[in-house]
Amino acid sequence: MRIVINMPPRRKTDQPGEEAPGEGADAALARLGHWLEERGLKHSRQRDVIVETFYAMGGHVPVDGLVARVRALDARVSAATVYRTMKLLAECGIAVPRRFEDGQTRYEPASGRSHHDHLICTGCGRIVEFENEKIEELQIRVARSHGFEVDSHKLELYGRCERCRRGDAGARDARS
Ligand SMILES: [Zn+2]
Ligand SMILES: [Zn+2]
Repeated sequence: MRIVINMPPRRKTDQPGEEAPGEGADAALARLGHWLEERGLKHSRQRDVIVETFYAMGGHVPVDGLVARVRALDARVSAATVYRTMKLLAECGIAVPRRFEDGQTRYEPASGRSHHDHLICTGCGRIVEFENEKIEELQIRVARSHGFEVDSHKLELYGRCERCRRGDAGARDARS
């Protein structure tokens, strides 16, 4: 079993343009550029800023949080543009949308990542990724016993993380 706590930011965003984007953002931008070109759509600098900021924020980024970060970097970017760009990224397979029980749409980078499921803390909102082969196999077996063939699944476990269970005062600040 592999547990991955939210991926660390690859790049600081407080100084746009001063640092090269991480390779994740680079590869995503190249792929997006190619995808847009094939469809005769034009490239935009605003889109680049959104993609770079998304990668810098790591996994499970709520769209409104991304809007706030992007607009702090470039106030000319509208919320609608951010929403539209993230839908585009999902369409071309660069980002995966997630909607947990709080109803917010979050996105996580898709590049080079295998299937994983999520543990979500109802106290502080922390999201932990996990992969467990036995659970994967068991789900397939259960489905088969009902005559199903599984195409995909989403497993979300809700509960309180260790910090919240201990009642740490600082746990709320760790919201991811
Ligand atoms: Zn918690
Ligand atoms: Zn995830």
